[in-house]
Amino acid sequence: MSKNRIKKATTHVVQNEGLLFEESRPGRIGYSIPKLDVPEQPDDQLLDRRLVRDDDLEGMPELSEVDVIRHFTRLSTWNYCIDHGLYPLGSCTMKYNPRINEKIARIEGFAELHPLTPARLAQGALEVIHHLEKCLAQITGLAAVTSQPAAGAQGEMTGLMMIRAALTERGNPRKKVLIPDSAHGTNPASAVICGYTVETVPSRSDGLTDLDELRKQMSEDVAALMLTNPNTLGKFEQNIREICGIVHEGGGFVYMDGANMNALAGVTKPASFGIDVMHLNLHKTFSTPHGGGGPGAGPVAVTAELEPYLPFPRISRAEDGMLALDFDRPKSVGRVRAFFGNFGVLVRALAYILTHGDSGLREATETAVLNANYIAHHLKDTYDVPYPGRVMHEVVFSDKRQLKYGVRNADIAKRLIDYGFYPPTMSFPLVVHGALMVEPTETEGREELDLFIDAMKSIDGEASEDPALLKHAPLTTKVGRLDEVTAARKPVLKWRSGKGD
Ligand SMILES: *Cc1c(COP(=O)(O)O)cnc(C)c1O
Repeated sequence: MSKNRIKKATTHVVQNEGLLFEESRPGRIGYSIPKLDVPEQPDDQLLDRRLVRDDDLEGMPELSEVDVIRHFTRLSTWNYCIDHGLYPLGSCTMKYNPRINEKIARIEGFAELHPLTPARLAQGALEVIHHLEKCLAQITGLAAVTSQPAAGAQGEMTGLMMIRAALTERGNPRKKVLIPDSAHGTNPASAVICGYTVETVPSRSDGLTDLDELRKQMSEDVAALMLTNPNTLGKFEQNIREICGIVHEGGGFVYMDGANMNALAGVTKPASFGIDVMHLNLHKTFSTPHGGGGPGAGPVAVTAELEPYLPFPRISRAEDGMLALDFDRPKSVGRVRAFFGNFGVLVRALAYILTHGDSGLREATETAVLNANYIAHHLKDTYDVPYPGRVMHEVVFSDKRQLKYGVRNADIAKRLIDYGFYPPTMSFPLVVHGALMVEPTETEGREELDLFIDAMKSIDGEASEDPALLKHAPLTTKVGRLDEVTAARKPVLKWRSGKGD
């Protein structure tokens, strides 16, 4: 089976290497425009003189339409995407994006609406946002939601700004934010941006938060605990109520990083375990496309206590039933983003939620958890599992057993590309050395999971028989193994003639 997958991957490598500039031929054009049928006017009468070029535009490639189409289509085949196959990038919840969401986001009234349209003429768009915020409040069990933040990280910042505002009003903004050692890097970054110092809470050997340590660290200086649940080891914090109790007793707030809601949505509500504020990653849990720095959305849900601090404007329904923008929010932390965030992402997420409904969201969550445990079960004898036992929506392996052949997690991940899969997450959780964090999501069928399991087993075989092979992987892609350090430190972002420089 896995051999098939290798062949499939090989056929993706298109031989023609032509680049736009090299393919250029003088005089070749890719457009046709009708003949001028009005009197010609000198350029400087049409445009401000200062805006008119004096010289010809040089060095632009001259190509036919088909050249351009083939160039970009070829480039697209050198990349990997969720529409190619499993994308097991742990914690990122790369799930298939149903095309109906795309279709709805492209409805003209949504896609072409100008952001400055007056509220009374944008009722449909406001209704989408208002309705989505209500759905997300229901899913989290919290009182109110803002859809403004454009990403999870911005949601974290917004949430902490609200905590800071609430604590300041109580008389002391406090100094510290506690964050478990398994956290995603954005958590400490957001805390620091909001003026807090970060203190790490160690995990126990089972991967869960150490309550005794938390009790010791909790003090009048602690503004909040930021915690991901299930955490990035794929483990549900079983003592979550007690954890929230400890923080609340100490006068702090509990911020939940909701990036892993794919393990909870439709099954349980974070408000029920005592969370005060959390973000959701619509581009993860609610399917909208993501990756490569594209648009996302990180709505933030809060308790009634924190509601007055939400970013403005809020959308409210007037007596005549029309939706209006409410700027009269004296305690608000202000705007965190222009207009209402990435509106197209909000439309897609609402379409996703409404097409699934309560029972559909629950089924998606249950299937995601089942899929992760299926992979965990079939690979636990082949790969080291540093925190064994049942997992939620993702499972973290390590390269410990393959290290004796000199094979590291990066080698395994690169080789997976040859088998036609995207590599798993490796950069965190930091508590696992040589991590391979796999999140299959619910959108993969059993056959795809079996192919992945076969590939992982096959790579383990290669590690013992031919470790050098893995050191050179990927072997079937357009670009082989890159020097990632140089690529990050000295990126070449401009086209060059290719003559030796
Ligand atoms: C993805 C992720 C974030 C950050 O979300 P962005 O939308 O990428 O800013 C934060 N925490 C966890 C656990 C994540 O997986």
